[in-house]
Amino acid sequence: MKGTASMGKRGRSKTHIVCRRCGRRAFNVAKGYCAACGFGRSARIRRYSWQNKKVNRIRVV
Ligand SMILES: [Zn+2]
Repeated sequence: MKGTASMGKRGRSKTHIVCRRCGRRAFNVAKGYCAACGFGRSARIRRYSWQNKKVNRIRVV
């Protein structure tokens, strides 16, 4: 289904969940890695000089 009608099905399943490493809601469930910090993809934290947002490592327990 395409177009306006399928917009009603948005929000049923979540693409990103809260990341265990950076705390941002950027962990892709299907792909199994975080788009913000690279958790699940690399042991090193994904960070770039051009990025504005900091990768947060403080865990909310
Ligand atoms: Zn992350």
